[in-house]
Amino acid sequence: MTLREAVCRTAKKLGEAVGEPALEARLMAAKLLGKDRLGFFDMERTFPSELEEELRRMAERRISGEPLQYILGEWWFMGLPFYTESCALIPRQDTETLCEEALRLIAERGYKTLLDICTGTGCIAVALAKLSGIETEASDISEECVRLAERNAERNGVRAVFRTADLFGGAGKYDLVTANPPYISEADMAKLQREVTFEPATALSGGGDGLDFYRRIAKEAAPHINRGGALLLEVGYGEAEKVRGLFPGRTTRTIKDLNGIERIVVVEF
Ligand code: GLN
Repeated sequence: MTLREAVCRTAKKLGEAVGEPALEARLMAAKLLGKDRLGFFDMERTFPSELEEELRRMAERRISGEPLQYILGEWWFMGLPFYTESCALIPRQDTETLCEEALRLIAERGYKTLLDICTGTGCIAVALAKLSGIETEASDISEECVRLAERNAERNGVRAVFRTADLFGGAGKYDLVTANPPYISEADMAKLQREVTFEPATALSGGGDGLDFYRRIAKEAAPHINRGGALLLEVGYGEAEKVRGLFPGRTTRTIKDLNGIERIVVVEF
């Protein structure tokens, strides 16, 4: 079978199950061939028969609702490659908005030190370290995530310190603190998109109203952020005003993501 036939057959199988079957089929085949995801392919080359079964299994997982990013085992964030594992949230474009603002602040204010809490895959910490050179620490409550984040730092040639910790546990003091904590409310947890149910509930569930982690962060942050420093939080739909309200007496502002949703809350220290 040629690569073209393998991709077309897989795309047809994915059919209605996904938005862009041909693109996803191509990414799966590229992964199996060890090729760059969007690089040039000779579509008439032979697709090794021993990979056919694997490609079929990938398509079946996808049809069952599993996110493509877990099936591929890697995904791209801020133009950089990250390993994905089901212990951690998949890196999302919404979170690139946080990184873009962080990079702007680092350049403008000369921030030297970063702490990223709830780091998951480590995508925020690793991208900021890689793209700005800022001295970086990151933590996650899951040891599995810490190991994953370490692999992602290594993959991107970044040096950063990773710790297993609950929010600020064991942290020092930094110019910049970033977090994409779990923020989905109990009511919304009950009606997640099918694909999102494959992601860890511990990375999604923010308690009754979704704000549990912001309340803790608001209480614990001050000793860990230098004067003139900033806290950047990703927030869920409709949460920005409530999160700003948790920091009375501080200057706060919000930044919209590319869908026009208030996605990032910036708190000045
Ligand atoms: N953005 C994710 C979603 O809505 C949630 C991420 C989070 O809870 N931090 O699926």
